[in-house]
Amino acid sequence: MSEDNVGDNLAAATSEASLAASQRRSLKIEADLVAHPERWRVLTGDRPTGELHIGHYFGSLANRVRLQNLGVETWVLSADYQVITDRDGVGPIRERVYSAVANYLACGIDPERAVIFTHSAIPALNQLLLPFLSLVTDAELKRNPTVKAEHEATGGRPMSGLLLTYPVHQAADILFCKAHLVPVGKDQLPHLEQARVIARRFDERYGRSTPDTPVFPQPEALLSEAMNILGTDGTKMSKSKGNTIEIGMDADATARLIKKAVTDSDRHISYDPARRPEVSNLLLLAALTTGGDPEAIAEGIGDGGGGALKAYVTEAVNTFFAPIRARRAELLADPGYLEQVLAAGNAKANVVAEATLDEVRTAMRMKY
Ligand code: ATP
Ligand code: MG
Repeated sequence: MSEDNVGDNLAAATSEASLAASQRRSLKIEADLVAHPERWRVLTGDRPTGELHIGHYFGSLANRVRLQNLGVETWVLSADYQVITDRDGVGPIRERVYSAVANYLACGIDPERAVIFTHSAIPALNQLLLPFLSLVTDAELKRNPTVKAEHEATGGRPMSGLLLTYPVHQAADILFCKAHLVPVGKDQLPHLEQARVIARRFDERYGRSTPDTPVFPQPEALLSEAMNILGTDGTKMSKSKGNTIEIGMDADATARLIKKAVTDSDRHISYDPARRPEVSNLLLLAALTTGGDPEAIAEGIGDGGGGALKAYVTEAVNTFFAPIRARRAELLADPGYLEQVLAAGNAKANVVAEATLDEVRTAMRMKY
């Protein structure tokens, strides 16, 4: 592929045909993950811009735990440098990172099997940005649909250089540990395509450290079903919107928030995500937390109205998260242990990052 085509290919990554191809590929990968989990290394991460919420749990954390438990090597990044892409300060970042680590462990990430690490502790990962930035053009970055979307979300704030280049940083996150697989929603396919482009261009432009194998494998997307948990205001639950139910909240706070969640005026409860998004979202939460079926739950509540629905959801969510919350509280009571887990993850990530950077220097003839 010529370099001129790459921008078009990034855009094409979201086209219908390529979406269908990505979906087919994801199904194949899912089958292979079960048959040969040892072949795959997965990277996932979160920006520590706020507390993880139940949308994160059902949209991504539960899947990470599932992959780990299949035997897939799992890397989990707390992307602390990415906090400053669209805001002036870092906020209470240390607390947020350790709170995220406590959430990961409480939800079932096993620090013996998974590597939990932070950007800022891995110098060699960040150094990959320099050669990687030489492989992309400013026009390509400005066209990137994810950069555009993130920028729009900042409400017209001028774009920082770090926001503009964040797909390149994310490519470094994926490629430093040679992850084969990144679980994403379809909106993030262009990102992954950028990482694939960088891997390929590095090979074309700078060569290899060994004759047979490119330094970077081509990472693949594992497309997840778009799960979109709504917050208490009826829009997508997001840590920056103040509409979340945090994983770490207690039962009373959860009850208060669900009580004031937006619903509609029809007393008869029915599952109809297109026409009744708020009521259907509560039914979905009830289904996810009880293992039930949203339509059957709706039938059971019938004319009981929003009050009965909210009581049901509150009980279901609190029962489901009670053991996770108890475990989280235990973990937070032992900060020394959380520090130890993160230090061990960072140490492992540093070994791998330095080995990759060494290969990069060899390929670039910069080994002195
Ligand atoms: P921010 O407000 O900073 O954008 P956020 O709460 O939207 O934070 P992200 O860090 O943007 O969280 O999301 C990380 C990942 O978590 C997403 O890619 C998605 O997989 C999952 N996720 C986030 N919010 C939801 C949600 N409401 N429903 C389902 N999945 C979600
Ligand atoms: Mg978001």
